[in-house]
Amino acid sequence: MRIDLHIHTAPLSACSYIDPHELVQEARRMKLDGICLTEHQVLWDLAGVDKLALEEGIKIFRGNEYTTNQGDVLVFGFYEDIKELLIIQELREAVQKAGGFMIAAHPFRGFKTFGIGQLQMTVEQASKRKVFEFVDAVEIGNGKLSEDENDMARKVAEKLGLPGTGGSDAHRVDEIASWITVFEKDIENEQELVKELHAGRFRAEVGSRNAECGSGKDDQD
Ligand SMILES: [Zn+2]
Ligand SMILES: [Zn+2]
Repeated sequence: MRIDLHIHTAPLSACSYIDPHELVQEARRMKLDGICLTEHQVLWDLAGVDKLALEEGIKIFRGNEYTTNQGDVLVFGFYEDIKELLIIQELREAVQKAGGFMIAAHPFRGFKTFGIGQLQMTVEQASKRKVFEFVDAVEIGNGKLSEDENDMARKVAEKLGLPGTGGSDAHRVDEIASWITVFEKDIENEQELVKELHAGRFRAEVGSRNAECGSGKDDQD
């Protein structure tokens, strides 16, 4: 089952231009079986998502993207509404209590521009970042990142033995499905999604958006 695990929509993320109805139509065109709406610290209400899913005939799951003191984290299976910047340790404890799942989002976004020292950052050093102590998985394919940045995330995930996910991080409709997560089983609801995440029955893949234009690796800035 092919799911774009990281999408922002216009009603709930101010930074997004995505209309939910256009989104699901494009998702079907991109041969996705499901999408996850991961707004910034706001959760869609279940009735709204179910209505949209029913109308459009596609699976829609809800997640959250939390900004923590250790960077952004995608969270699934956690339904508390927290607005302020979070201490990752506190978020981790709350999510674990709820049985939820945490993914380090775009952990190396911009790492080449952090400074001279970061330019030579080894996988060994990169894997010591605090965020990795508090997550269940690492986003190793993010549609907004360069190949180098995603590569570093993949190598770090491998080194730490953490599973990798893929998602577009789309803020516009024509950005979805650049990276996806392929699940081994069909998933009907959010509980099953969280269960499959915990079971590790998934892998990150380049989505049909990037596959469409060759490797998708030449046109990034
Ligand atoms: Zn983010
Ligand atoms: Zn995002």
